[in-house]
Amino acid sequence: MVYFDHAATTPMRLSAIDAWVEHAGALNAGSQHAAGRRANAVLADARERIAAVLGADPVEVVFTGSGTEANNIGVRGLFEASELDRVVATPIEHPAVLEVVKSLGQTEWLPVGRDGHVSDLALLDTPAAVAAVMWANNETGAIQPVAEVVERASAAGTPVHVDAVQAVGHVPVDFHALGATTLAASAHKFGGPRGSGILLAKRSPAPQPVILGGGQERGIRSGTVDVASAAATAAALEEAVAETAQIETLRDMLIDGVRERVDGVVVVTQAPALPGHAHFLFPGANADALIMLLDTHGIEVSAGSACASGVVRMSHVLEAMGFDEREAMGALRVTVGRTNTKADVEQFLAAIPEVVERARAAGAL
Ligand code: PLP
Repeated sequence: MVYFDHAATTPMRLSAIDAWVEHAGALNAGSQHAAGRRANAVLADARERIAAVLGADPVEVVFTGSGTEANNIGVRGLFEASELDRVVATPIEHPAVLEVVKSLGQTEWLPVGRDGHVSDLALLDTPAAVAAVMWANNETGAIQPVAEVVERASAAGTPVHVDAVQAVGHVPVDFHALGATTLAASAHKFGGPRGSGILLAKRSPAPQPVILGGGQERGIRSGTVDVASAAATAAALEEAVAETAQIETLRDMLIDGVRERVDGVVVVTQAPALPGHAHFLFPGANADALIMLLDTHGIEVSAGSACASGVVRMSHVLEAMGFDEREAMGALRVTVGRTNTKADVEQFLAAIPEVVERARAAGAL
């Protein structure tokens, strides 16, 4: 099979599997006895390595159970730590942020252009409880102007949460240089285990906890920490940032090849964007048909966003970018990763003209 769905999740790296297996027997890192201290030493080492890669202090690294959980704590936690109830966010956030924002105070939405990038930051000049802007969009790969967002929001005294789940391990991320208040990452997006998230949280203002308990992780995320997953996450992250894979070259080859072979294709992914993302619209075709037909050719891709797959509905990201429902129904997300080769791209390009033709014919029935 050719796997082109690395933005949904990417296979675990051997270095991460080895670290996970090595520490699978670790006991409670909060215990005072020797076994607890041993587990805590492994956890401290993972925390330090992650902090070093991401430009944070070890104390700012909070281990969570997923990227979703890190986002919930960042957004809701900063909102609850503030006395204001105004929220500023983009309408293209992942549901892990979007649904939280919608459940809070009065939200004002930053406008997004047809290229998938936030186009005007003026709303950030008025103080808010929290501003939430993603580093890179999971559907289109579009990289957002997060440095400018932090600068404008900070001038108004607004804390900023950045969902960097798609960015960490793929583009350089430096928490201190950025100056955000909180930042979320997820290990399974860069070759770590699924169910392991990271929240970077400045000392002040610190997010209020979302769940209450034993006070682990600075009281921000109670619950006994999964030491083996933390060690595996650190190993995967170090390997990911050291990698010089040809992901971007393969992605560009794929986009150029599709443009040459398929009439009427719209390339949604616009620079600046993540190196592995290629998001297309094939007007007249249905994404479900495209996916099933590609599957018969042994090629695995996704419709818009894996989180929304299985449910036939318009992508909120494409809607915010100004596409209509007819255009958005033929949305296909192809995401290249470290396991892909030139032969994979060639296999995709050999299949795509006939697949689109058949999907369009089915759509016209
Ligand atoms: N944020 C973004 C941008 C994502 O792409 C995802 C996963 O698809 C998440 C958050 C959720 O992360 P997790 O799957 O670790 O809960």
